[in-house]
Amino acid sequence: MPVSVFDLFKIGIGPSSSHTVGPMIAGRQFACHLQDALGLQAVHSVTVELFGSLSATGVGHGTDKAVLLGLAGHEPDRIDPDQIAPAIADIRASGSLLLMGQHRVAFTEKEHLLFRRKSLPLHPNGMCFHALDSAGAELATREYYSVGGGFVVDAAGERVLNHAPALPGTAGHGQGLPHPFRTGAELLAQCQATGLSPAQVMAANEQHWRSSAEVRRQLMAIWQAMAGAVRRGCASTGHLPGPMHVRRRAAELQHQLSSAPEAALRDPLSMLDWVNLYAMAVNEENAAGGRVVTAPTNGAAGVIPAVLHYYVNFIQGTHKPNEDGIADFLLTAGAIGLIYKENASLSGAEVGCQGEVGVACSMAAGALAAVMGGTPEQIENAAEIGMEHNLGMTCDPVGGLVQIPCIERNAMGAIKAINAARMALRGDGQHVVSLDKVIKTMMQTGADMKSKYKETSRGGLAVNVVEC
Ligand code: SF4
Repeated sequence: MPVSVFDLFKIGIGPSSSHTVGPMIAGRQFACHLQDALGLQAVHSVTVELFGSLSATGVGHGTDKAVLLGLAGHEPDRIDPDQIAPAIADIRASGSLLLMGQHRVAFTEKEHLLFRRKSLPLHPNGMCFHALDSAGAELATREYYSVGGGFVVDAAGERVLNHAPALPGTAGHGQGLPHPFRTGAELLAQCQATGLSPAQVMAANEQHWRSSAEVRRQLMAIWQAMAGAVRRGCASTGHLPGPMHVRRRAAELQHQLSSAPEAALRDPLSMLDWVNLYAMAVNEENAAGGRVVTAPTNGAAGVIPAVLHYYVNFIQGTHKPNEDGIADFLLTAGAIGLIYKENASLSGAEVGCQGEVGVACSMAAGALAAVMGGTPEQIENAAEIGMEHNLGMTCDPVGGLVQIPCIERNAMGAIKAINAARMALRGDGQHVVSLDKVIKTMMQTGADMKSKYKETSRGGLAVNVVEC
């Protein structure tokens, strides 16, 4: 199935695309299935089993709450983050939930939400939903897999789409794109054959699904949502949820930077502080369960907004930012992310953090090179450098929370992306390691990585940092 830029950038909630957004979509999909196949009235209770990484780090990543909200009919892009706590409190107090907001069924987490250490066969992030009648007989069962970046597939490997109604002008997914590509080499070949940039190739393909005006409207909505996450992150103080009581730092950092602007004149690297700020603000907002854009995952949600803010706030002269530049940035990042989605993985549970922050760094590097006037070859080179120096990066979230090392790691990913773009722009696009080769290497490295380094919190920092 072809992947759209809007499959890679989705407005949702934190803290995790694979452990929060995907399970919410799966829960709602199962409830929709019950509604269509049986009628909700036939259902007396629902049981959910979480497998593998969803079991190991699910509570810290909000998977337990996400499946309940999904069964209750909520969607990650529409739920008001402020309504989550009251909705969960109501389910816990009543020992029941309203399937699709309509039909009350028995539900206590102790009895109906089961954590299984083993993994299901298709992917480490497996879920199995069961619906039972009043005699305890099984009426229906479904397996789903949250395969990274909020993408969900069923047991047959078929993509499960969020049940949101199609947006105006959306023709649905299908074949027949004007400029199809699955690899970096194919994207370059499309650019060479047509004279289009990667952003223009992507824009033409998007028009298979929606009008050019609708593409622009949705891209600007993504940009506004990213900017909103930075703003809210910079305005929020206090501590993040969880037993580590991690202090939110973005507000204090913004205060420091804004209150001494003259310091920037003496320190040519003060721009790095601002990029760090943008990334940390988004990832603190994500860790707090707030509204962010999956880009291409929630754990890595800060990298692309940080580099895009760098472009908007710091670039001057020939490549001065404007709305066209923002659209080109997101389209180029989407074109690169699509290649990773098609050939590798966006899941920390499958390939470690190289598949999350590593991919976001690669996407941001290529996108920045594009809006700085890079050729398709330089853009491909920037994306390749952005991944090459993230190869082997493990996923070891302390306490199973998307906080340490995730928040700072996004800041590091953003800075690395800016450097990758600059290195590529100083060259002529000719280089030894292709983007396709580095993606293949990333996937092989992820397959060789021990599972304790793949979003299980059983290795790395997760076992060497003591929770308070
Ligand atoms: S370490 Fe990386 S992959 Fe793991 S949860 Fe954090 S951001 Fe995601």
